[in-house]
Amino acid sequence: MARKVCIGGNFKMNGDLATLTKLVSQFNECNFDVEAADVIIAPPALYIIPLLEHVKKGIKVAAQNAHQLASGAYTGEISLNQLKDVGLEWVVLGHSERRTLFHETDELVAEKTKAALKQNVKVIFCIGETLEEREANKTNEVVSRQVEALAKVIEENDWKDIVVAYEPVWAIGTGKVATPEQAQDTHKAIRDFLAKRVSQKVADETRIIYGGSVAAKNAKELCLCPDIDGALVGGASLKPEFADIITSAEEAYKTKARL
Ligand code: PEP
Repeated sequence: MARKVCIGGNFKMNGDLATLTKLVSQFNECNFDVEAADVIIAPPALYIIPLLEHVKKGIKVAAQNAHQLASGAYTGEISLNQLKDVGLEWVVLGHSERRTLFHETDELVAEKTKAALKQNVKVIFCIGETLEEREANKTNEVVSRQVEALAKVIEENDWKDIVVAYEPVWAIGTGKVATPEQAQDTHKAIRDFLAKRVSQKVADETRIIYGGSVAAKNAKELCLCPDIDGALVGGASLKPEFADIITSAEEAYKTKARL
């Protein structure tokens, strides 16, 4: 059975209440099939509540980060308990900008992911190699290490609430999208690692989505690859084009479901 696609829109630290509300109104017009696609937008934390109220039922809202502890003296942080309290169902964790600019380690990202699952918050778990690592032929080693840190701290049953986002760092925000072959090869390597390290069932059922300069013009070809189950989109999620990416991913799902 084909895996349902997942399309995430990561707004990062962009937009204001008026522009993001207008953008979400445009996404609300996109009539995708909720049986075929999960669509999740991740606005800046300040806009989570108003956008939760504005977005249509089929589109979910995620936080871009969270703290692993429930409460305490952690100025500027938001806990998973608090995100859950306002009705959030998803969180993006381990984005490469969090890993590089805010020094989040594999272990911290795994700990945050475990804390999210404890709160019944689903996770878009981001991994990916730098250009230097790819050029040194270390891509599979890096993504396996990042997944291993998580496999160590969660149970087999927890994987149903995780979407792995493979995002090569060199493709994020650069316009340099991975070729479908490059992306498919790494997705397959991640799935093989899950089969070996966790179970064949988890490998077969976990959605692995691609992120890095996804646009309307390349989304369908990427999503048609056998091991690519959707996209995490940065820049293009701030444009009406995001609705076309949703449609492309949905079409790819339907094609794969027929095969
Ligand atoms: C991202 O930030 O997750 C991302 C993939 O960005 P972009 O689509 O702009 O490359």
